[in-house]
Amino acid sequence: MTSVFTRIVRGEIPAFKLYEDELTLAFLDINPAARGHTLVIAKPELPGLLDLPPELVTATALTTQRVARAIVAALKPDGFNIIQNNGSAAGQVVFHFHIHIIPRWEGDRSVKLWRPG
Ligand code: 5GP
Repeated sequence: MTSVFTRIVRGEIPAFKLYEDELTLAFLDINPAARGHTLVIAKPELPGLLDLPPELVTATALTTQRVARAIVAALKPDGFNIIQNNGSAAGQVVFHFHIHIIPRWEGDRSVKLWRPG
């Protein structure tokens, strides 16, 4: 089955892209938990962290750091969360590896950090 994120990689579904390279893509989440909520994906359609070969673990981590740095520079949050869900019990809805970057501001306690799947 083709994931919604593979369709974004192929350009079949629009997304607001922040960064792209050979192995990874970063774009804004369609249902943001906070302003600037971004997803970093591995381009190959692999479901979770345990399915990734080492080069994709490295590539997605480096893209996460690069994009988080840009978000911090642009939006000046007070902090940010990195979240990565594996399995429906953990709230994973899209079974194509992705890392959430969620900017946080002091006092934004209303941000619901995870919604059950
Ligand atoms: P998960 O719960 O699997 O860790 O997170 C999946 C995320 O993908 C959710 O935060 C959801 O809002 C986001 N998402 C699902 N479909 C789309 C889409 O078509 N475009 C974008 N930009 N984000 C999506």
